[in-house]
Amino acid sequence: METELSLEHKPYLLMNGLKEIAHEFTGDENIFLGIKPYGFHAGNRIPFVAYPILLCEELEKNGKQARFNFFVFINDWEQTRFDPEKTNWKEFPFNVIPQFTTFQFSKDEAHDVDYWEKVICSAVHEVKERFPNVSIKCVRNSSMRDLPIMKEVVLKTIKNPDLLGDIMNNLGFPLHKNFPYTYCNPICPKCTSARTVAAIIKDEDISLTCSDCGHQGVYGYHDLYYWLYHKILALPRIKYFDIDLCISGLDHYKEKDFDSRYALYDAYGIKMKPTHILYTPALHGANGLQMGKSRNNCANIETEQLLQLIKKNPNTYEICIEE
Ligand SMILES: [Zn+2]
Repeated sequence: METELSLEHKPYLLMNGLKEIAHEFTGDENIFLGIKPYGFHAGNRIPFVAYPILLCEELEKNGKQARFNFFVFINDWEQTRFDPEKTNWKEFPFNVIPQFTTFQFSKDEAHDVDYWEKVICSAVHEVKERFPNVSIKCVRNSSMRDLPIMKEVVLKTIKNPDLLGDIMNNLGFPLHKNFPYTYCNPICPKCTSARTVAAIIKDEDISLTCSDCGHQGVYGYHDLYYWLYHKILALPRIKYFDIDLCISGLDHYKEKDFDSRYALYDAYGIKMKPTHILYTPALHGANGLQMGKSRNNCANIETEQLLQLIKKNPNTYEICIEE
């Protein structure tokens, strides 16, 4: 890490990080887990099931009782895919623009939010089967639309995409100024496209032009739904649910998720209590490749087997499934 970190602002990594947190926490904290409603493979099971179980185990070894509140955020406001013609992942990973719509409005069967919410939440429920005093609550982004903190973040992001753009630029991810980049668009009320061009008028009215169907109109904040980029989407959730700990995959850490998170709190002027972030290892399949939906490399493994794998490799960044 290039950035200097103060003691209370440091990332917690792998099982060493987990042990430190278990030592520090009382067992009553609020814990953040977030995912797109699209698939759930063994790689997801590490941050969503295995690490929560290991955290509860470790806490109880220290003589405390696990009564954590786990919030499982179902990101139905994320894009189903980015526009490949307007994105250049390798050079400009933060010049993003959605191609179609969000999970909330996708009609593709593979993106069925109800279905995936059930799959994901019932998987996390295994933590409660082992530690009955914890609570598990699933929350869709769309259900948070009318909260004042969500409204504040959406309006600020539409008004000024450079709040995030400048942070990523300063962290060494250049932005291509000739490529479009926005981090929040209202969804077109006529065709549900997320490819809209919007501006804030009169404090909170939103004028919108759809790049797909050409529809134009002016709407109140509460009359629309939104596409919101995941880095920014984290803020209202952490603030509203008074989150103490986020559990997240290491790929986010490589994207400087840790540094950008704290810079975003400042840029958005949101007062946050110190939030811990615990990063979990990546899982590689028996073929040696990292698991992922976008990589088309998915497998399912029982939790017990995953727990054994993690205990055998407690501080390894990449855990491999054994044949
Ligand atoms: Zn439209």
